[in-house]
Amino acid sequence: MKPVYLDNNATTRLDPMVLEAMMPYLTEHYGNPSSIHDFGGPGRVALARARAQLATLLGASYESEIVFTSCATEATSTAIHSAVTLAPEKKEIITTAVEHPATLAVCENLERMGYTIHRLAVNEQGALDLEQYRALLNPNVALVTVMWANNETGVVFPVPEMAEMAHEQDILFHCDAVQFVGKCPISLANTAIDMLSCSGHKFHGPKGIGALYIRRNTRFRPFLRGGHQERGRRAGTENIAGIVGMGAASELADIHMPMMQSGIEALRSRLEQGLVAQIPHALVMGQGQPRTPNTLNIAFEFIEGEAILLLMNQVGIAASSGSACTSGSLEPSHVMRAMSIPYTAAHGSIRFSLSRYTREKEIDYVIEQLPAIVSRLRTLSPYWQEGKPEAAITQDFLPTYG
Ligand code: PLP
Repeated sequence: MKPVYLDNNATTRLDPMVLEAMMPYLTEHYGNPSSIHDFGGPGRVALARARAQLATLLGASYESEIVFTSCATEATSTAIHSAVTLAPEKKEIITTAVEHPATLAVCENLERMGYTIHRLAVNEQGALDLEQYRALLNPNVALVTVMWANNETGVVFPVPEMAEMAHEQDILFHCDAVQFVGKCPISLANTAIDMLSCSGHKFHGPKGIGALYIRRNTRFRPFLRGGHQERGRRAGTENIAGIVGMGAASELADIHMPMMQSGIEALRSRLEQGLVAQIPHALVMGQGQPRTPNTLNIAFEFIEGEAILLLMNQVGIAASSGSACTSGSLEPSHVMRAMSIPYTAAHGSIRFSLSRYTREKEIDYVIEQLPAIVSRLRTLSPYWQEGKPEAAITQDFLPTYG
């Protein structure tokens, strides 16, 4: 059995067809697309093609709405920077408590500069409260920035509806769609989303390439200034091979979309049901909410996620955990904390993320291996008493979140 890779929300395998499309631009077509001589031609043509391919995947109205960047982090920084520099008198930003650090860290920085950052809360299922959101919309808001799908739980937010609500008050709306693009169909032309970030390596494209969608006629200020690449919206010589790769990956994602929506979702359900049936005290995060078809997050109560990951790795299974080792102690992720998941569960949260390369026999192997791993760790856990784990838990014993 080859190692089983279930960490596709971290990054995905490069599709061999994507590599094939990229190769000429890493070898013979090395010209700069800005050059007037013949060496520039192939790059220019490839750039236009990739822009069209990504625009199609996103359902954008115009290819020119796509600006290539170095990654989604850059795209999101650019969107937020643009919104705040365009309207310096507006000092509020609305986001959520469960965004990726690419958004949260920029917002924290703005907070230090005097901005008010409204971080929308989520409930235990990871869902937002749209009434709380509606109440926060006001003319002093420079930008709403909300992710379409959460990277840890896969929970999908009602972004089109939220964008409409922002537009009713003439407020700019940006979406981090890194975990949504390539997994769920999108038709940006039919939404009120002004800007959207995505990343090539999350849907079988290469690393180091991302894009920012900017709706035509949206007020915009560039972040990287210099040359006139990307129509003056993002300076810097284009990463042609990366862009070609992201374009090819977009076309393939479109082709595989029905399979993602049915086949991958079926495998995810098989994994979910198989694990929950065999492992007691296994809580599915975001259950009952719309979720991306490839993501499953389960909190195995009374044990540490990192220990589960290490033992899974020993039997050739790769996944990821919500807890991160900070200053010597394992802290549940900000997403688990925002969802008010009890401490003893949040620590044992594991994210399994599938892709179109995931096979049923791999899912069955995980279902076969994991129950023994969890029960072995529970026998070592001070929180766990066989058969009656509640007895091990007292209120005094439970630390509170800082
Ligand atoms: N936003 C989300 C939701 C993500 O999951 C990630 C990456 O994991 C990013 C942003 C950052 O993407 P990139 O690494 O391309 O900058």
